[in-house]
Amino acid sequence: MQATRTSARRLASALLRWYARHARALPWREPPGAKSPDPYRVWLSEVMLQQTTVATVRPRYARFLARWPTLDSLAAAPIEDVLAEWAGLGYYARARNLHACARIVAAEHRGRFPDSEAGLRALPGLGDYTAGAVAAIAFGRKVAAVDGNVERVIARLDAIATPLPAARAAIRARVASLVPPSRPGDFAQALMDLGATTCTPRQPRCLLCPWRAACRGFASGEPERYPVKPAKRARAMRHGVAFVLTRSDGAVWLTRRESRGLLGGMRQVPTTAWTATPPSAAAIRVASPAGASWRKLPDPVRHGFTHLDLALEIRVARLANGGRPRGDGAWWPRAGLAQAGLPTLMRKVLDAALGGRAP
Ligand code: SF4
Repeated sequence: MQATRTSARRLASALLRWYARHARALPWREPPGAKSPDPYRVWLSEVMLQQTTVATVRPRYARFLARWPTLDSLAAAPIEDVLAEWAGLGYYARARNLHACARIVAAEHRGRFPDSEAGLRALPGLGDYTAGAVAAIAFGRKVAAVDGNVERVIARLDAIATPLPAARAAIRARVASLVPPSRPGDFAQALMDLGATTCTPRQPRCLLCPWRAACRGFASGEPERYPVKPAKRARAMRHGVAFVLTRSDGAVWLTRRESRGLLGGMRQVPTTAWTATPPSAAAIRVASPAGASWRKLPDPVRHGFTHLDLALEIRVARLANGGRPRGDGAWWPRAGLAQAGLPTLMRKVLDAALGGRAP
């Protein structure tokens, strides 16, 4: 849906009126309608808030600011100190980028942040959202700042049927059309607050929302359907055969996987290659570590990796004393299997083959 000019203006006004009464009081913020805040503080808070909750950031922001109250003081700090101060906030690339950005702004911009979205976007650690947020909030630029909260609100407002991430460009264009020429910083923060406190992922509080009358998601009766999630791609399926070869003293024959690929370099019981269709009799014969009398277990072991599911048929055999399997490997005493560094999949295999007596 494309808003008319009037409806966009009306939506922005309604949101700003709501913000005047319901703005969250946050330590890095000026109250609604106040002058633009210090760009250093806006930037610092926005970087800290990436992937981290407001509750976690509050005390850490205060501590960080007490230690480095200005951009120049941060630029002069050793990176080790910044990383140590960041400890526990996670995503340490943020701290490295923060420090690199401070140094660039100090050295190349005479200590002043660029005041445009494009100028900010060129600095380390400032993606589309952060550059937009700093440009709007600290410099009053009429630009869109679109994070996950904002995407949700807009997808519901317009009942956007296109799933994410394909809908992102349309959402961004819609936000840009709504940003008012005056108080774009307040508008950006109001939209963030609406997403954080009212248009929440579950059970949005539509009855308290300033956009309810215009909201197509609300009108549909199912605002939580939006944003539409992309259909899950079917995971690839792989098949293989695993060979659990034991000795009469209970030791198990273990080999090492090739260094490349899934579980690369890790210990395993020998297996066939993991292929899209179950391996052929010839492939099973070649991969088998010994010409023993193999018994097939009735159920395969199933294991999910990030991008694929694996079904391993299990074959077990006992090698006569003195027998030597083919290929590189070693006999591991049953009691020492816990120290073999076996991946979860191989623990499952041994558990199935040894009747719950695996590591
Ligand atoms: S009316 Fe409900 S679904 Fe629509 S924007 Fe407001 S809170 Fe979100």
